[in-house]
Amino acid sequence: MSIGTAETTSPRSDRRAGRTDPSPGPAHAGTLQLRSVRKQYGDVTAVEGVTLDIAAGEFVTLLGSSGSGKTTTLLMIAGFERPTSGELILDGRRINDLPPHRRNIGMMFQSYSLFPHMTVEQNIAYPLKIRKMPKREIRERVADALELVHLPAHGKRYPTELSGGQQQRIALARATVYRPPLLLMDEPLSALDRRLRSSMQEEIRRIHRDLGTTVVYVTHDQEEALALSDRIVLMHDGAIAQVGPPAEIYDHPTSLFSAGFVGESTQLLGHLAAASGPGRADVVLSDGTVVAASCSADLAVGAPVVICVRPEHMSVALPGSTAPSSGVEMVVRDKAFMGDCVHMTGRFVTGDDGVVRIQPRQADGLDVGSAVVVSWEAGNALILPRESSQG
Ligand code: ADP
Ligand code: MG
Repeated sequence: MSIGTAETTSPRSDRRAGRTDPSPGPAHAGTLQLRSVRKQYGDVTAVEGVTLDIAAGEFVTLLGSSGSGKTTTLLMIAGFERPTSGELILDGRRINDLPPHRRNIGMMFQSYSLFPHMTVEQNIAYPLKIRKMPKREIRERVADALELVHLPAHGKRYPTELSGGQQQRIALARATVYRPPLLLMDEPLSALDRRLRSSMQEEIRRIHRDLGTTVVYVTHDQEEALALSDRIVLMHDGAIAQVGPPAEIYDHPTSLFSAGFVGESTQLLGHLAAASGPGRADVVLSDGTVVAASCSADLAVGAPVVICVRPEHMSVALPGSTAPSSGVEMVVRDKAFMGDCVHMTGRFVTGDDGVVRIQPRQADGLDVGSAVVVSWEAGNALILPRESSQG
């Protein structure tokens, strides 16, 4: 049985030399393609026609709420579920009919606990043993793996003698010890507390850089997806809602669903008036105010739309202190000091809810209950088509 494509290189010495080249082994090891992959369970369509190209060494996150089809997608890639239709292609080879143990894919799940009756070393050695690797090489690789996860002295312990975070690091060492070109991770940090989660995120980024493995990561946590990924695949009801690098998903959501799922935003209902320039259009808000915003979608004049603005792109002033045409009035509902910023919510005269983030000193005198004028640059206000249910 193959023990991975990294045999031809020496990741151990490469890593010590601080190598960060994300492509170990032969070119393209760890490329994955999903072609119209579908999974039907009786009446339930868990995954609906997912098509995706993942490059070698890429860190791709499937992000979506519970039930959106993330785990089912991962289980099909791993080989534990069969697609109802569609194709899975790993390194140019169709793997639909290959059993899980022959796909050479590493896996780490939230509930995928370590074997309790084995020491840490024995746990990590397990995938190498079943691959019948020579004892000496196993010892070396296990030591290497323990070093990779920064637990070199913990080999003789049993899993119960480790903290939750340490157990997940050992699980990560076990999942990567045979250097699979592809690593799948399903919500591996969701059982950890917030502090530990963010330090583990840093560990995962480092290990991904060091090993150069392709990673398909699953989470429902948008902050985690933004922090970890080269690309995010946003899933909704078993289908892909949007695919792109974190900053693109955040700055250029293509739908209200994307805008609402990733990051906070203010959404103002309106109707499209005339175009006001290339990529710009005027929108009539529900109180008759006309504001300019940017528009990449192809929409007809009169179409029901939503203007979406991120909280950090809004400025707030007292009425009368700015040019009268440059904002929309809002009554402050709540104001929270966050240390580096003030988070403010309110109700616009249009009836829409607002969420604004400003510098603490700009919030002086803008108290709960007071009327303020909120403004933004047209380039930071995105026009999105309204979904039909919002009429
Ligand atoms: P996620 O991981 O995003 O929470 P899942 O992939 O687990 O979502 O589930 C997607 C949908 O498929 C859900 O509606 C779920 O109830 C359904 N589903 C998942 N596994 C099965 C199964 N074995 N039998 C029937 N329905 C399933
Ligand atoms: Mg799941």
